[in-house]
Amino acid sequence: MRRVDVLVIGAGFGGLAAALRLQAAGYRTLVVEARERPGGRAYRLEDHGHVWDMGPTLVTLPSLFRELWHAAGAEFDADVELLPLRPYYRVVFADGSSVDYGGGDDAGAVAALAPGDAAAVARFLHSTARIYDRAFGELARQPFLRIADFLRVVPELVRLGAHRSVYALAKRHFADERVRSLFSFHPLFIGGNPLRASSVYSIVPHLERTEGVWYARGGTYAIVEAMVRRFRELGGDLLTGTPVSRVFTENGRASGALLASGEGIRSRAVVSNADAPMTYLELLEPKDRPKLWAWRLPRMRYSMSCYLLYLGLDRAFPDLAHHTIVMPGDYRGTLRHVFDGRGLPPHLAFYVHTPSRTDPSVAPPGRETMYVLVPVPHEGRGIDWEHEEPAFRERVLRELERVPGFAGLRQSIVVAHSFTPRDFAERLRSFRGAAFSIEPTLWQSAAFRPRNRTEVPGLYLVGAGTHPGAGMPGVLLSAAITARLVSADLGPAVRRVLVAPAAAGG
Ligand SMILES: Cc1cc2nc3c(=O)[nH]c(=O)nc-3n(C[C@H](O)[C@H](O)[C@H](O)COP(=O)(O)OP(=O)(O)OC[C@H]3O[C@@H](n4cnc5c(N)ncnc54)[C@H](O)[C@@H]3O)c2cc1C
Repeated sequence: MRRVDVLVIGAGFGGLAAALRLQAAGYRTLVVEARERPGGRAYRLEDHGHVWDMGPTLVTLPSLFRELWHAAGAEFDADVELLPLRPYYRVVFADGSSVDYGGGDDAGAVAALAPGDAAAVARFLHSTARIYDRAFGELARQPFLRIADFLRVVPELVRLGAHRSVYALAKRHFADERVRSLFSFHPLFIGGNPLRASSVYSIVPHLERTEGVWYARGGTYAIVEAMVRRFRELGGDLLTGTPVSRVFTENGRASGALLASGEGIRSRAVVSNADAPMTYLELLEPKDRPKLWAWRLPRMRYSMSCYLLYLGLDRAFPDLAHHTIVMPGDYRGTLRHVFDGRGLPPHLAFYVHTPSRTDPSVAPPGRETMYVLVPVPHEGRGIDWEHEEPAFRERVLRELERVPGFAGLRQSIVVAHSFTPRDFAERLRSFRGAAFSIEPTLWQSAAFRPRNRTEVPGLYLVGAGTHPGAGMPGVLLSAAITARLVSADLGPAVRRVLVAPAAAGG
C-alpha cells in the first residue's frame, strides 16, 4: 500500500493550496482528484477555439495568492499575470438605468443614479473599512475549533453590528433600492443571501477598493495550472481521475483512504477538499461519523446554486464591459425565491463574464467568449433540470437580449454549453447541488461550521464548506489555517536536506 505523510482528497483551490503549503513545509503530500483535471469549480472548458473558466472569474484579495506563493518559496507575479478591471462591474437595473461600479468615482457614479444617496457612499465605505480592520484578522485567519472561541468574539461582533444583514446595513445608508442592491449584492459571490448574511460580509466593497478587482490572463485556470506546476516542482504528487470512496480509520484515527479503484493509500493525515457535508456523510463510515454532524448537516441551510451558460459568439460585442451584472426587477423577492423558494424564479438576475473584452487569447479573432450565470435554487426545490433546461436556456437568452449591449445574442451563438445544479451535484459531488456549499449565515460560520480540524483525529477539512467559507479568498484562508493545524499535529517534517556540492566539499 502506498504511504505518504498527507493525503489531500480533491484538487480545488482549497486542496491545491493546502497541498502546496504542506509539501513546501516538507511533508510528502499526495493529492487525489476524482475528475480528469484539477481545479474543481475552477475547471476550464474549451470548444471551437473558445476557452471558458467554468466557475470563479474575478480575483479579489490577490495578496492571499502572493502569501501562498511565498510559503512555497516562489513569486506569484512571476507565474500569473493579473490584469486590473475598471470598472469592476457594469450594473444594469430593471428600469434600464445602469452604473459603472468601482475603480473610479463611486460617489459620482451613484449621483448619476440617485443624487440623494451620493454623499452616503463615503460613509458606507468608511463603516465597512472599520468592520474590516476589527473583524478580518480576528475572524478569518484563525481556526474556530470550539464554541468558546466564537463566544469570545461575540461582544466585538455585536459592537460591529454583525447581527444585522448586509442588506440592512446598505438600507441604513441609502434610500434608493438600486443603490442598496449595488452595495449589498456581494455575498452572492460566496453563496450568501444579502438579506441574511451578516453585515461582516459588507467588507467586500472595501476589499475591492483596497486590493482591486482583477482578471488572470488566460483565465482563472492559469492560476490552477501555476499552482499545480509549483506543487509538482516541490516534489508533490497529483493523481487525477482518481475518486476516493472511503476515508478509513484505525483506532478512531483517520489513517488513509480507499480509492474507487480498490487501492488503498496510507497517510499520517487526511485533508478533505471534498464538499464538507459529503466528507462526513459519504466518505466516513457511519461508525466514524460524529453524531453531531450526522444530525446537523442535513438540517443546515445550503447556498443557492447556479445555472451557467458558456457561449461562443461569432462576432464581437463591443458595448459590453468585462463584467455585467443585471439586477432583477424585484431584488428582495428574487433573493427570497433563490434561497428559500421552490421552482424557477419569476425574476432573474444575471452575472455575465465576457473575458474576451480584456483577453483576446480566450476567443478566436473577432469573436467573443461569454459566460452567463443565473442564481437559482439548489437541488431538491422542485426543479427537474433535465426537463426544464432547454426552455430555461431560451428564457435566459431572450431576457438578456433586452439588456443594452446584448442585442442579437441568440443569432451569434456558435457553440453553447450549460451547467445546472444537477451538474454541481453529479460532477462536483456537491451536497444538494449547492454552488457554494453551506450558506454563510452568522450561525453557520466560524465554530458553527464544519471545522478545519474535525472531531476525527487525523482528518481535516479545507475549502468552501469549512471555515471561513467560499470564494477563492475564503478557501485560500482555509488552506492556510488547515495546513497550520496539520503541521502542528504532525510535528516537524523530516526534510531531505539538499547539500550544494561546494558546501559539501568544504
Ligand atoms: C459559478 C461560480 C462562480 C464563482 N465565481 C467566483 C469568483 O469570481 N471569485 C471567487 O473568488 N470565487 C468565486 N466562486 C467561488 C469559488 O470558486 C469556490 O468557493 C472555490 O473555488 C471552491 O474551492 P474548494 O477548494 O472549496 O473546492 P472545489 O472547487 O469544490 O473542489 C473540490 C474538488 O474535490 C473533488 N472531489 C470531491 N469529492 C471527491 C472524492 N470523493 N474523491 C476525489 N476528489 C473529490 C472535486 O472533484 C473537486 O475537484 C465561484 C463559484 C462558482 C460555482
